[in-house]
Amino acid sequence: RELTVDLGDRSYPIYIGEGLLDEAGKLLANHGISKKSPLLIITDANVAERHLAHLETVLREGGFGVTSAVIPAGEGSKSLSQLEKLVGVALENGLDRKSAIVALGGGVVGDLAGFVAASYMRGINFVQIPTTILAHDSSVGGKVAVNHPLAKNIIGAFHQPELVLYDLSTLQTLPERDVKAGLSEVVKHGLIWDAEFVSWCDDNAEKLLALDPEALGYALYKGCSVKAAVVSRDERENDLRAILNLGHTIGHALEAVAGYGELLHGEAIAIGMVGSARLAVKLGAPEEVYGVTKRVLSRVGLPVRLPAHLDTDEIMRAMMHDKKFQEGAITFIVPVAIGKVEINKSVSTALIRDIVEQLKQEAV
Ligand code: NAD
Ligand code: ZN
Repeated sequence: RELTVDLGDRSYPIYIGEGLLDEAGKLLANHGISKKSPLLIITDANVAERHLAHLETVLREGGFGVTSAVIPAGEGSKSLSQLEKLVGVALENGLDRKSAIVALGGGVVGDLAGFVAASYMRGINFVQIPTTILAHDSSVGGKVAVNHPLAKNIIGAFHQPELVLYDLSTLQTLPERDVKAGLSEVVKHGLIWDAEFVSWCDDNAEKLLALDPEALGYALYKGCSVKAAVVSRDERENDLRAILNLGHTIGHALEAVAGYGELLHGEAIAIGMVGSARLAVKLGAPEEVYGVTKRVLSRVGLPVRLPAHLDTDEIMRAMMHDKKFQEGAITFIVPVAIGKVEINKSVSTALIRDIVEQLKQEAV
C-alpha cells in the first residue's frame, strides 16, 4: 500500500507492506537520497539487535555509504545530551548537507533522529523507517523533538521526511505491551475522523492483537491516512491539527504523574480518551460515544481505568503546565459523535477534576 502526505513541494510518500526493508535501497534512491554523501542510520539497542544488520546490508548493496549509531532504548534517550552525541557521530563520519539520516525504530528514535536531521547543518534529508505500531503516528507529520527534564517534547522542530517506509515484518518482534499501546493511536485516528474504521477495529481487535499481517496493514494504512489528511490541511497546528490531541490533555498529565515508562504513552492516552468520552456525554454527546470508545479500547487490550493511587491534585497540576491551559479553562478535544470531534476552548477545570475522579471508578 502507498499513500501521500500532501504538502505541496514537500509532499512525501508512505509505503506500507511486508518485506519492504528489502527494497530500501531502491526506494531511498528513487526519493532523492544521495549515494555520494554518507548516510547515518540511528536506531536503539532493541531494534538494532533484530533489524539493523538487515537494513545495513540492503543499503550497502544498493550503493549507499552507511554508518550506524545505536542509542539506549527508552524515552530517556530523547535528550539534548543524546542529540549532542549524535551530532558528534555525524561530524566524525563526514555527513554533509546532501547526507541523510535514517530513523529505524519507534517514536523515540524517530523524534530524536528527526531532530538531529532538522538541526544538523540547519537541516538535512531524513527518512523514517518505523518499527512500532505507535510510530505510524509519530513518523508522519514532521513533528520532531527531544525532552527537557521539565517538559516533554519542548525542544523541537517541524522537519518532514523524504519518505516513510513501513515494513510490517519488523512489527512481528514487538513486545505485546507495545502492540497494545500502539493500537491506542490507531483507534484514536478512527475516533477523530472515521466512524466506519472504529467499528472495523471493534470487529478485528483479535486479529490486530495477533499481528495478522492483512489486518495490521489495513489498520496502519487507515491510521496513516487520517494523520496525513489532518497534517496536509494544517501542518503547523494553527487549528485543525489539534484534533490529533484527543485523549492527550489528560494522557500527558498521567504520564508525567505516573512517571514516564510506568504508563506507556498509548496506555495513558487510552485512559485520556475514555475521560474525553465521559466529558463529551456530560456536554450533550450521545451515550454511545462513551460506550463505544471504552469498548473498542478494552478490546485491543488497553487500560480504561485510572490507577487509583495516582493523586488527582497532582494530575490537575500537571495539566495546568500544559500549553493548552489558560485562565481556569482548558482547551479540550471533545468527541461529539464517533468519528467526529470538536475543539472546546472553555472546559472548566472543575469539570475535568470530576472526570479524573470518575476515571478511578471506571468499571473494567
Ligand atoms: P519506543 O520508540 O520507545 O518503542 C517502544 C519499545 O519497543 C522500545 O523499547 C523499543 O526499543 C522497542 N521496539 C521498537 N521496535 C521494535 C521491534 N520491531 N521489535 C522489538 N522491539 C521494538 O516508543 P514508541 O511507543 O514507538 O513511541 C513513543 C514516542 O513517540 C514518545 O516519545 C512520544 O512522545 C512519541 N510520539 C511522537 C509523535 C510525533 O508526532 N512526533 C506522535 C506520537 C508519539
Ligand atoms: Zn500520542
